[in-house]
Amino acid sequence: MSKLPSATGGPPRARTRRVMVGDVAIGGGAPVSVQSMTKTHTADVPATLAQIRRLQEAGCEIVRVAVPDQEAAEALPGLVRQCKLPVVADIHFDYRLALAALQAGVHKLRINPGNIGGAERAEKVLREAKERGVPVRIGVNAGSLEKDLYERHGGATPEALVASALRQVELCQDIGFDDIVLSLKASDVLTTIEAYRLIARRVDFPLHVGITEAGTRWTGTIKSAVGIGVLLAEGIGDTIRVSLAGDPVEEVRVGWEILKSLRLRRRGVTVIACPTCGRTEVDVAAIAEELERRLAAVNKELTVAVMGCAVNGPGEAKEADVGVACGKKSALLFRRGTVVGKIREEEIVERLLREVEEWPSMGHTGPRTSREEVL
Ligand code: SF4
Repeated sequence: MSKLPSATGGPPRARTRRVMVGDVAIGGGAPVSVQSMTKTHTADVPATLAQIRRLQEAGCEIVRVAVPDQEAAEALPGLVRQCKLPVVADIHFDYRLALAALQAGVHKLRINPGNIGGAERAEKVLREAKERGVPVRIGVNAGSLEKDLYERHGGATPEALVASALRQVELCQDIGFDDIVLSLKASDVLTTIEAYRLIARRVDFPLHVGITEAGTRWTGTIKSAVGIGVLLAEGIGDTIRVSLAGDPVEEVRVGWEILKSLRLRRRGVTVIACPTCGRTEVDVAAIAEELERRLAAVNKELTVAVMGCAVNGPGEAKEADVGVACGKKSALLFRRGTVVGKIREEEIVERLLREVEEWPSMGHTGPRTSREEVL
């Protein structure tokens, strides 16, 4: 597996082919993109578009919709026309739905050519996709593994998932279709990690990475961060989807935090907060949470720190652009580790919001007050 350096200071990335999903590139050194999937009934176009708008505001770059029936397929032309994000149609079993989705102008199909109704029908879909320049994600899932592979490998093992993926890739390549993205998901984190490691050594198709059926917002976030995080740290993965039972906007937020924490992408304001300890005199968590909420839509790349004390605060948050180190009913305001003023506890949130708003026009040239002076 040859690697490319990351443009943003993250780990080197596996060199993969590039696939275009509308105007978003996946693989070939493109930034790792964040995907999500709508949870509305696709046939309900206004509700689906409203959810897509919320996903887009949160930073979603590619959106997938389920197409379980004819009614959903009929909604696709209007949906694609009005949607500002590339749309992926998620289809199982019925090749006619896949053909209808292609005719509707979707930007990618998620199918398993092996379960679309036989080789002839799969070929029909792939030929149509090729003609339209639409890529296909082959989404192998531990829960729907072919029976023969399940039996031969003694379960949905990483090797079985890889064998399933390679079988479907072969089916595509037999008819000259190789505009492919691959995913091999299991709800078990270690199985998923191993499956992606194995496939990354075998093929250079871009990889869509995620932990399937990860769980609720809490457990799903942890499992996704561990599974996706390990793979991305090893350079594996070109686009990610965090699967959570709940609001899909959370999936996008978690996805971005994973990418930001690995320095694979930069986006928006990062709020850091100390864990608090016996020195803390103010409600650091409440302040940090309010800041996070109110800064969620701000598109400036900077780090804001809320630290519980003045003893270690500015030092611990040296990497932050702006922040406070709280004391008793007051806080020291600092920029890039240098204390520049003292504010009252009740001013903290508004003052930090103002600092962000004025950044970087105010630069770092505010009055330099020594720490001793304000303490
Ligand atoms: Fe404790 Fe201060 Fe560190 Fe917060 S910054 S954890 S209050 S020592």
